[in-house]
Parts: sequence; C-alpha cells; structure tokens
Amino acid sequence: MRKLNNLSFELFPPKTEQGMENMQAAVADLATAGPDYFSVTFGAGGSTRDRTFATVDWLKGEGIDAAPHISCIGASREEMAALLARYREKGVKRLVALRGDLPSGAGSSALGDFHYANELVSYIREDSGDHFQLEVAAYPEVHPQARNARADLENFKRKVDAGADGAITQYFFNAEAYFRFVKECQGLGMEIPIIPGIMPVTNYSQLARFSDACGADIPRWMRKRLEGFGDDLESIRAFGEEVVTRLCQELVDGGAPGLHFYTMNRAPATLKVLGNLT
Ligand code: FAD
Repeated sequence: MRKLNNLSFELFPPKTEQGMENMQAAVADLATAGPDYFSVTFGAGGSTRDRTFATVDWLKGEGIDAAPHISCIGASREEMAALLARYREKGVKRLVALRGDLPSGAGSSALGDFHYANELVSYIREDSGDHFQLEVAAYPEVHPQARNARADLENFKRKVDAGADGAITQYFFNAEAYFRFVKECQGLGMEIPIIPGIMPVTNYSQLARFSDACGADIPRWMRKRLEGFGDDLESIRAFGEEVVTRLCQELVDGGAPGLHFYTMNRAPATLKVLGNLT
C-alpha cells in the first residue's frame, strides 16, 4: 500500500445500535491503512448534532483522531460557542467547517446568525483562536448554488482568507477538474492543501442520487457502463474499483497532497483502492 500524507476517512453517525457496531468494525479495518484522522458528518440543519458528538466521543475513546463536521446554517452564535467549547473539552483539535443546508421546507427565518461558511470560519477563529485545525469544503465542479465558477472560486477564497488551514473537495470523477481548480486557487494566491474527496463506487442508484443532489458530475460513459450492469453488484464493484483506482493514481501522481475517502461507514472498497495504488 502506498504511504500517503494527508489520508482521511469520512464516517456518518449511525442511527441504530447495529449501525454503530457496523461502523466500529469498519473503523477497525480502515485504521489498518494508517489514516491521519476520521471525520464525522453532521445532518442538515444540525439534525445529528448529538450523534456526531457521540461518534467523535467513541473515536477519541479508542485513541483515534476525530474531526467533527460542523455546519452553521440555522445556528446562533451562542449555540456555536457552546458546541466549540464542548469539542475543545473533548480534546478535539480539528474541525470540518461548513455552511450546510437547511432542511427542506425551512423558511429563511431559520437561517440563524451565519449565512456562509466563511462567517463560520471567522467566528471559530474569534472564539477559539488557533486551537482548531480548520478544513473547509471545495468544489472543483462548482457548488450547485453558485452564480458561476468565478464567483464560487472567490467565495472559496473568503474561507481561506478567514483562516481555513486546508480544504476537502466534493467528490468528482474527472481529475482534470481538480487540477484546474487547484491551479486557479494558486493563481489567486491560495496556498492551503486542497485534498481530493473520493467516493468509492459500489452502488449506482445511490451514487446517482447523491450526485444529482450535490452537483458532482458522473461522466456519461460511466453512467452508461453502470446502467448496463443493472443489479449485478459484483460487476458494479469491480468497475468502481478500477475507475476509482485510476482516478486516485492520477491524482497522487499529479501532486494531490492527500486523499479523503467518503467511506459510507464501509471499509472494503476504500481499502481495495488504497491497496491498488503504486
Ligand atoms: P459555503 O462555502 O458557504 O458556500 C455555499 C454557497 O454559497 C456556494 O454556492 C458559494 O459560492 C456561495 N457563497 C459562499 N460564500 C458566499 C458569500 N460570502 N456571499 C455570497 N455567496 C457565497 N453537509 C452536511 O449537511 N453535513 C456534512 O457533514 C457535510 N460534510 C461535507 C463535507 C465536505 C468535504 C463537502 C465538500 C461537503 C459537505 N457537506 C455536508 C455539504 C455542504 O454542507 C453543502 O455543499 C452546502 O450546500 C455548502 O456548504 P459550504 O460549507 O461549502 O458552504
């Protein structure tokens, strides 16, 4: 297995006892790859705040470095201060700072004190100084709500200027989009590491649903191949492993500073890709 700098694995907080057991088994397997940390997602509008905290608490108890995602949309400054204090007390040193999305149906009065992630980054620096290493989100294929690519890039820069230490990208299957984005960031004077977010491919309908929601492009040739496999999960997995391995190889060979895997609380697909890298 190739030794990578900046290797991280993303988990979601399980809803059930069984889900927790499955995640714990996946973490034990994933830990064999020697990641720098595991990150733990946060539900829309703060809906999983306690489960995120409980998952981070479990990881810390196991001696594993954990980075909670925190989203600011819908939160007040007081709530954010309390959450940051709770994480500082737990010994958390790294956060993934996001705007997040309001749950569907929520009115604009539910927005809270923060409107964009750059405001959250500024607030965390104001509240906690340099205690936390702050990662923010980046979109090589452009955030779906952005006016255009240029505006999105300028908005990304606001987060960097506000004090982000690094960024993790939305997943993509086109390495060219990533390298172009990084070059544009460097052109605007941004020096932070921008870590590609990698989505292992194991299930086509789920991937198509996520991609439609987050604006990640599944190239036509990939869609057509995946559609052609129908319910043949084994072929989908084999194809996914091949495509994602090639993508990761191209990224690390081209100078990407690390990899962040959206593991979906499962180890095999991520470990296979990592094991294939030369
Ligand atoms: P922002 O950086 O605030 O950007 C949101 C939009 O607003 C963009 O279109 C941007 O161009 C625009 N914008 C930004 N700043 C300004 C400004 N000052 N003025 C005008 N326009 C502006 N979601 C979850 O709910 N939970 C999670 O745990 C989670 N984890 C994620 C992890 C990663 C690595 C990534 C890439 C995404 C994650 N998301 C998560 C999804 C994320 O919450 C959504 O993509 C959300 O819509 C945007 O969050 P952001 O932090 O990128 O927002």
